[in-house]
Amino acid sequence: MSIGSTMADMRLPVLAISNPLFYAVQLTLRPDMPATKPKPTTPARANKLEDKLARLGLRSDMDLVLHLPMRYEDETQVTPIREAGFMIGNPVQVEGVVTSCEVQFRPRRQLVVTIEDESGPLVMRFLNFYGSQTKQLATGTRVRARGEVRHGFFGEEMVHPAYKVILEGAPLPTVLTPVYPAGEGLSQTLLRKAIAAAMARIDWRDTLPESLRASLKLWMFEAAVRLLHNPPPEVDEAALEDRSHPAWVRMKFDELLAQQLSLKRAQVARRAKTATALPVIGELSSAFLKTLPFALTAAQERVLSEIRADLRASFPMQRLLQGDVGSGKTVIAALAAAQAIDSGYQAVLMAPTEILADQHFRKIAAWMEPLGVKVAWLTGSLKKKEKTEAQARIESGDAQLVIGTHALIQEGVQFARLGLVIVDEQHRFGVEQRLTLRNKGLEMSAALDSANTVPHQLMMSATPIPRTLAMTYYADLEVSVIDELPPGRTPVITRVIDQNRRDEVIERVHAAALEGRQVYWVCPLIEESEALQLQTATDTYATLAEALPDLRIGLVHGRLKATEKQQVMDAFTRGEIHLLVATTVIEVGVDVSNASLMVIEHAERFGLSQLHQLRGRVGRGSAASVCVLLYQSPLGPTAKQRLATMRETTDGFEIARRDLEIRGPGEFLGARQSGQALLRFADLETDQWLVEKARTIAQTLLREDPATVQKHLARWLGAREDFLKV
Ligand code: ADP
Ligand code: MG
Repeated sequence: MSIGSTMADMRLPVLAISNPLFYAVQLTLRPDMPATKPKPTTPARANKLEDKLARLGLRSDMDLVLHLPMRYEDETQVTPIREAGFMIGNPVQVEGVVTSCEVQFRPRRQLVVTIEDESGPLVMRFLNFYGSQTKQLATGTRVRARGEVRHGFFGEEMVHPAYKVILEGAPLPTVLTPVYPAGEGLSQTLLRKAIAAAMARIDWRDTLPESLRASLKLWMFEAAVRLLHNPPPEVDEAALEDRSHPAWVRMKFDELLAQQLSLKRAQVARRAKTATALPVIGELSSAFLKTLPFALTAAQERVLSEIRADLRASFPMQRLLQGDVGSGKTVIAALAAAQAIDSGYQAVLMAPTEILADQHFRKIAAWMEPLGVKVAWLTGSLKKKEKTEAQARIESGDAQLVIGTHALIQEGVQFARLGLVIVDEQHRFGVEQRLTLRNKGLEMSAALDSANTVPHQLMMSATPIPRTLAMTYYADLEVSVIDELPPGRTPVITRVIDQNRRDEVIERVHAAALEGRQVYWVCPLIEESEALQLQTATDTYATLAEALPDLRIGLVHGRLKATEKQQVMDAFTRGEIHLLVATTVIEVGVDVSNASLMVIEHAERFGLSQLHQLRGRVGRGSAASVCVLLYQSPLGPTAKQRLATMRETTDGFEIARRDLEIRGPGEFLGARQSGQALLRFADLETDQWLVEKARTIAQTLLREDPATVQKHLARWLGAREDFLKV
């Protein structure tokens, strides 16, 4: 794959998944994914534990054994209470006897327990408590409590410490206590027991041959796992903490190796599948190119020829088309679709939002319908009757090009002859959705095509992937890059302005509108509450309408009905609205070339990639465009850096690189938001050297040692394999 060295990570905001269950069901339906065997019925209590474990993804003994502690607690020491008072902010363990225990009602209901040792008293304060705790902590009871001490009104106290009732002289643990990621209703004790039981049952044999372990100085699997669950007293705690301990290294290497093996295998398997060759670049393709009002840029020409070559092959293309905002990916998508249609097949184009899908539909229909192409439109918001009609046209093969939102997958649409699936702004789809999309091609056609061919896939994204990601999650994709903008664009000038100069900005908006320029006004992002966000948008609209009575002002936000959104966007496109007040619904892909001024309120709340995407909505025509970033001072250091970056550069790749620098790659792929851990142990930033090792070794193993590959994948992936491929 060809990845420029300039690429870097960006934040990938994730679209809320409207119905997570749907995707979960889809995933379990994958034909090549082994269904989990139904467990024999066991008594209700055991079942409940099983369910709780299953919710954490812990289904097999090996899952449990590989459920490693996220941290450790040191309960091997007891600190005298007086001394603990000098260790403010650090977790300590103290031991004492309860001298008073009472429920207080001021300032709010709480349980206040005083314990004492020879050195002094300490208050334990519980704002939430069970009635039974008053009995459990009756005067005279001896407890060990662990928490952070703070100076309270009445002296030293711990708020909500972890505590145990003990007998005098109870021995202290001699090893660090592991703390596991746990779920609701699943205590550490239960997890520890379940893990210990699983450890007694599994097959510990190492999956990696001795020679390989020796060459990388890797620990044995068993030794590593046992140490991590039960670290001995003399263990290097810092190395455990930062996961540089050889035991962690072994785990991380194993995980990365499994990922590489699985990706490479997927790639080989994909190449072994048959796709419909789409060899004809015929009348439609050439007529389309002729009617385009512009010539393709050199970069567009290059990626087009890469895609064209892929489409001719009889194994499925899986290509990611990257290009900065405004680089002209849509026309490439349309040309790819034209090749499918020229070859007698259907193409489908999916976008993550209705506004974008709608815009694609209009634009591409306007290009293609005059050339005789039948285009169908399908989104979730269509009326039932319209949906049925569209589906019938798709099923019969009458519709040659289908454009819509991910409703296309949700509705379980059947295609007559699907040759090509195009996914726009693929990074905006959630992890599960991306997964479904990548697998969907298989399902869409497998069901109806006896030859078992799969469609080609083209994914598009304005978000560059960093090298490490490219080597991991995207290792089985081909990548094309449009690294040039169409000519004649004047770069957008970015101004960073304090919120207290808002009135001046409104004045400028006014002046610009009177000159015939169109303006976006982007409302503040309020991540915590959609309702509040909506309220803010409505308020902003009202104040601007009041301040600028002679302008025509529109409002568009996520809660509008699809048709209402369309009406507003249409009016804006036709130039009937001067000023469009919008939430981030306009972030992705919206293309109105006459818009040349954008104001973003509370720009400090947005992430870099989001600001870049938003700004990309202006500067699409020949007029010099301006983007005003209004901020509320004081600015934190990262917000400052972000705004400075926006002022200094308009290059998406550079912005991505800096974003990576500022944030680290922790939130890549939206994995965190979706709650689905992709890599559990390895960290792509700090473990890059391991990624590279795993990559080369995976290649060797696949070539020379299929038995090891098999063993290793069976241990590490089980049913998780799919998630490593998103
Ligand atoms: P993106 O890559 O962000 O999806 P678009 O496909 O929306 O960008 O293209 C941005 C704008 O540039 C569109 O109005 C499109 O018609 C126009 N465009 C695309 N390619 C060219 C070109 N080679 N020359 C001039 N304009 C172009
Ligand atoms: Mg686009």
